[in-house]
Amino acid sequence: MVRKILHVDLDAFFCAVEEKFDPSLKGKAFATGGSPEGRGVVSSCSYAARQYGIYSAMPMRQALRNYPQLLIVRGHYKDYSNQSKEVMKIIKGLTPLVEQISIDEAFLDVSDLPAEPKRIASDLQMAIYSKLNLPCSIGAATNKLVAKIATNISKSNHRGNTPPMAIMVIEPGKEQDFLAPLPVIEMWGIGPKTAEELNELGIKTIGDIVRFPEEMFIKKFGNYAHDLIQRAKGIDDHPVSDLEEIKSVSNETTFFRDVNDKKELLLVIKQLSEKVAMRLRRKHLSGKTVKIKIRWPDFVTHTRQLTLSQPTNQDSLICQSASELFIQEWTEGKSVRLIGVGVTHLTTEIQQLSLFSNSFQREKKLLNAIDELRERFGEKSIRKGIDPKSFRYWKN
Ligand SMILES: [Mg+2]
Repeated sequence: MVRKILHVDLDAFFCAVEEKFDPSLKGKAFATGGSPEGRGVVSSCSYAARQYGIYSAMPMRQALRNYPQLLIVRGHYKDYSNQSKEVMKIIKGLTPLVEQISIDEAFLDVSDLPAEPKRIASDLQMAIYSKLNLPCSIGAATNKLVAKIATNISKSNHRGNTPPMAIMVIEPGKEQDFLAPLPVIEMWGIGPKTAEELNELGIKTIGDIVRFPEEMFIKKFGNYAHDLIQRAKGIDDHPVSDLEEIKSVSNETTFFRDVNDKKELLLVIKQLSEKVAMRLRRKHLSGKTVKIKIRWPDFVTHTRQLTLSQPTNQDSLICQSASELFIQEWTEGKSVRLIGVGVTHLTTEIQQLSLFSNSFQREKKLLNAIDELRERFGEKSIRKGIDPKSFRYWKN
C-alpha cells in the first residue's frame, strides 16, 4: 500500500510565538536565545534576521557582529510549550497517527484520508495559521524520510524576510529522483562529519551514494552501508509511531526468594537489559535515559537513572548503565526483592545515524540475528553466554 506521510515543521517557531504575543516584533530582525555577554547562542531567529546571515545555534555575539541592531528577545519557554501542544491538538484532529519528534515538528500518517496529500497539507497549514497565528511548512511523501527532506528543501528554497509557509509534495515513485541531485548533507541522519567522509570518496550528492560501487561502500561503512543505500534510494518503511503512547520501555522481575549474590543480581540486570533493548529495536526506538528500580525485602523501592550522550537500543550499553546504577545503590550482601530496568526519553531510531563506528555496526548485526532467532524459537532459545540455571529465579 502506498502511504501518505506528512512532515509538519513550524517556521521559526520560537520567534513566531514571540510575534504572536508581541505583534510589534513582526517583520523585525530579532532572535531568541542566550545573552551575548556569556556564551549564549541563537535558539531561533526571525526570517528578517536571517537576511543578515544569522542562523540558529550561532553564538549570539557573532549574530550581533553580523547585525548590531539585532533585537534579542528572552525566550518564553512556557509559551512555546503551550503553543506546541495547541498545534499538536489541531494535527491530532486530522489523524491519531501522529509522531511528534520535537517541540515544533511532527509526522502524520494520513493514508486513510481520501484527499490528495497537497490538499491535506494546505488545509492543515491554513488551520494552524488561522487558529493559532503560527506559520508552518509541510513536506509530503510516501515515507517519513522523504517527507522530512521535502520540508527542509522547500524551506531552504524560500527567499525573503517572511516565513516560508512552504508545501512540497513528492509523488509516489519520484522519491529517488527527488533525492539524487541533493548534496549528501541533506540526507536525514548524515551529519557534517559523515558528509565530509563521503565527499572524500567523491560522493557529493545522494545520487552518488547509489552509483558508488556497493562493495567499496560496505568496506568503508560496514553493515550500515546497506541502510544508507536504501535511504539514498528514498526507501524507508519506518512507521509513524506515537511516542506519547510509549513513553518508556521497561521490564522487571520479582524473585521467588530474596537474592543477595552480586553475580546473580548482575545476571538478572543483563537479562532485563536484553529484553528492553529487544523491545526497543522491534519498535524502531532508542532511548537516552536508562533507569533501574530496586525493591528491598521491606518493600522500600528506589529508582535511579542516568542519561547517555546518545540514544541507544543496544544491549551492552543499557546493561552497562543499569549495572553501574545498581552498584551505586547496592551494598555488598544486601538482599533484593525486585529489579527493573527501563529506558525513557525515546526517539525514533532514524535519528541516531551518527553512530557510524564499525564495532557498533557489528554488534547491531549480531543483535538483529539474535532477535530473529528469539522470534522464531521463543524468548528462551538464545542467551548470549548466560548460564540457563540462573532462570530458576525468574517469574515472567
Ligand atoms: Mg521548525
